[in-house]
Amino acid sequence: MKTLQSYVCGQWVGGTGTGRAVRHAVTGEQIAEVNSDGIDFQACVEYGRKGGEALRAMTFNERGELLKALAGKLNEHLEEFYTLAATYGASKKDAWIDIEGGIGVLGFYSALGRKKLPATKWLVDGDAVPLSKDGGFGGQHIMVPLHGVAMQINAFNFPSWGMLEKLGPSLLAGMPAIVKSATPSSPLAHRMCEVIIESGILPEGCFQAIFGGIGDMFDHLTCQDVVSFTGSAATGQKLRSHPTIQAKGVRFNVEADSLNAIVLGEDVATDSPSFGAFIKDITRELTVKAGQKCTAIRRVIVPADKQDAVIEALKAGLAKNVVGDPAAEGVRMGPLVDSGALSSARERIDRLTEEAELVIGDPNRSQFEGASTDGGGFLEPCVLRAKDPANARAVHEIEVFGPVCTVIGYSDKADAIEQVRRGGGSLVASLYSDDDDLALELAIAISPWHGRLLVMDADAASQSTGHGNAMPQLVHGGPGRAGGGEELGGAYALHHYMQRTALQGNPERLKKLFG
Ligand code: NAP
Repeated sequence: MKTLQSYVCGQWVGGTGTGRAVRHAVTGEQIAEVNSDGIDFQACVEYGRKGGEALRAMTFNERGELLKALAGKLNEHLEEFYTLAATYGASKKDAWIDIEGGIGVLGFYSALGRKKLPATKWLVDGDAVPLSKDGGFGGQHIMVPLHGVAMQINAFNFPSWGMLEKLGPSLLAGMPAIVKSATPSSPLAHRMCEVIIESGILPEGCFQAIFGGIGDMFDHLTCQDVVSFTGSAATGQKLRSHPTIQAKGVRFNVEADSLNAIVLGEDVATDSPSFGAFIKDITRELTVKAGQKCTAIRRVIVPADKQDAVIEALKAGLAKNVVGDPAAEGVRMGPLVDSGALSSARERIDRLTEEAELVIGDPNRSQFEGASTDGGGFLEPCVLRAKDPANARAVHEIEVFGPVCTVIGYSDKADAIEQVRRGGGSLVASLYSDDDDLALELAIAISPWHGRLLVMDADAASQSTGHGNAMPQLVHGGPGRAGGGEELGGAYALHHYMQRTALQGNPERLKKLFG
């Protein structure tokens, strides 16, 4: 069985003993294993820190050139990346979001570094601040790269995008990366790491990759290191409570799961274009990547008297969705990543049915297009309806990481706001209303619970980048349940990897020295 080795301290190394199996999402067959037992993680961290010196010696423009070269190299290998994406059940379209979407983010940060940031090694942040009456003393904020490693721990659903959307900002800021990819989708991440390393584009030590566990890595981190975690809220919570993370003040960014909502305003008629766009958004989010997106719509919050119309329209929208092996003719939606993900999704649907009824789909369906379902993770889209929305709690708390959402009826505007807030903080929400006053009121009321909010109508929908797509120009992250973290957002992303320092001194001198 092929062991996906880790790249540590300048060489590929395998672990000792038996590894953890990686299975094909369609057949359930074991296709590889990962094992990092016995790796010297202290040496890995120290090696990365040394690699950072080469990056810090470069200007933003030069680092931007590195990213450009890297994106170009990855683009040369698209075909094999698409082949490997099939192993975690991605359709061509799903794989495009992950692979070319990820390379696109790298391209975005390359352009930021080459064209918009200065030819310096630090950033001057904001204006100079006078601090004395005669102007002889003042202050100026600057941002300098941290001297540690930028460690990424990535979720399985975006093995490419999840890695590259962190790699672009960290390298551009001047920090070397240690990437820990999720096991279920590791074949694609592994090949991408091989291409990055074989390219020789990055200075020695600036890129290391772990396949398997991270051993005692956290014990060796300090306040100069950054951990960016993407995954479930439970794992994020566990990892951020590590004693070293707490005691040493290690920066720890969490992008976790959330129960993202879409809200239909009371003003939207069921025969209006906005209603059609609303339904389209939900069906798209349910089926793209088989609903395995942290940003997918989980809660559909609608006026109580429009629930039946919404459910009927969803039924019609989902009728064309063929589930099966993405390699088979006509299939639009593939399986979940593995049978474990399927069992977990079924178990969570069961818990939801304690307070919601299943109105579309059968979680136990066993026949799918072009696929034997013995070992795969197939699940058709399932829609539930909250039986007693005023007292429903599980529908706001239990994430089914698959093609599943719940319709929740609201009685009035205040109830709609309350239902949205019960999610406890989300990555994203969409708001459909053609009434400006209502849209403004709802948006202001729910924004504090969200990292991103789409204020939608039929016109915006025709050109929308999508509810579920995090754009590199805009912030991705969310409060509370969503982890309280923040990624992307253009140049904001660099700040996670830099220290903001308030310089004080003679204003003329500060200007001469720091620009
Ligand atoms: P997960 O089980 O929490 O795992 C996430 C990552 O943590 C994986 O790389 C995993 O490695 C690693 N990990 C688990 N336990 C660890 C430990 N004790 N020490 C070090 N690393 C550990 O999540 P997942 O199943 O991969 O992804 C699905 C979840 O991620 C969903 O809940 C989804 O909503 C969320 N998600 C959030 C975002 C976002 O941006 N907010 C994006 C994508 C997904 P192994 O795979 O090797 O165990």
